[in-house]
Amino acid sequence: MSAKLLEGAPIAEAVKAKVKEDLAALAKQGVQPKLVAVMLGANPGAVAYAKMQRRACEEVGIGFELMEMPEDTTQDGLEKAICKLNDDGSVSSVILQMPVPPQIDARAVQNIIAQRKDVDGVNPANMGLIVFGRPRLAPCTALSVMSLAKASGMDVYGKEVVVVGHSEIVGKPVALLLVDAYATRDECGKTDKMAGATVTTCHIGTSQRGDLASHTKRADMLVVAVGRAGLVNGDMIKAGAVVIDVGINRVEGKIVGDVDFETAKEVASQITPVPGGVGVVTTAMLLRNTVEAAQWQLEGA
Ligand code: NAD
Repeated sequence: MSAKLLEGAPIAEAVKAKVKEDLAALAKQGVQPKLVAVMLGANPGAVAYAKMQRRACEEVGIGFELMEMPEDTTQDGLEKAICKLNDDGSVSSVILQMPVPPQIDARAVQNIIAQRKDVDGVNPANMGLIVFGRPRLAPCTALSVMSLAKASGMDVYGKEVVVVGHSEIVGKPVALLLVDAYATRDECGKTDKMAGATVTTCHIGTSQRGDLASHTKRADMLVVAVGRAGLVNGDMIKAGAVVIDVGINRVEGKIVGDVDFETAKEVASQITPVPGGVGVVTTAMLLRNTVEAAQWQLEGA
């Protein structure tokens, strides 16, 4: 058997089309959304991500500004800059580029990004809305996984979903979004009811002291977000499962996921390619969230 490819491009295109529509509606209300990315120093990963953000914003007509701050910026200096952006009416969204230099407590900075400008969904108040089953600005990668899960056509209600990885921006929000029979925005911003899965979250402890394969083999849908090439192979996947691979790893000059694609595709019914799966949709979700932030700012308190 060879799994069907669950590709990100069609979803990303649908998201961008709806973003353009929403931008036109916002323009009629005199609102031109602008995303400001705050970057300390010039970490190559952060620089590359900022370039991609700029390109994506320009493609749909969202304003983009890269605020470059010195590598030795203090916590206080950064927090003051964030507060200024929070108060600036011409700025609709703020994102702190990761990684930050060691003197910076990123969590403390994320805490002060205004909730309605928090396009990365990292403010605890926005995380809290996910816990309550009422997500607004959720982390873009988690939203991307949810869109791909939906595009698979699998009704996961009551089914076994295993999430490998429990980071704040991927594993944990994905697990919370999947467990709730919640009302969410679909890729086009409409509210939609889905999920209600039986979710198992695995992490480093599962591999070190448990049996990762015993969990992944039970999964009707398997989401892997770790950052270790080949962590999951075909022997660890249930026949017919939907596999969503979030991982991005560089191996011998090639980008690969966390799932060994060649063996997995022989067992799974659908699988996301890397590149070309989750990542493509994540970028589109940043645009979606920028529009969502601008719309939220127009609403009353
Ligand atoms: P992270 O480093 O914050 O978290 C890694 C998680 O993996 C942790 O929960 C850890 O416990 C778990 N883990 C580590 N080793 C493990 C093992 N041997 N077995 C089981 N679990 C293990 O990572 P992150 O920020 O969540 O990113 C995960 C991966 O997803 C990375 O490859 C990253 O580049 C990629 N990523 C992709 C996108 C995208 O849009 N495609 C976005 C964000 C992150």
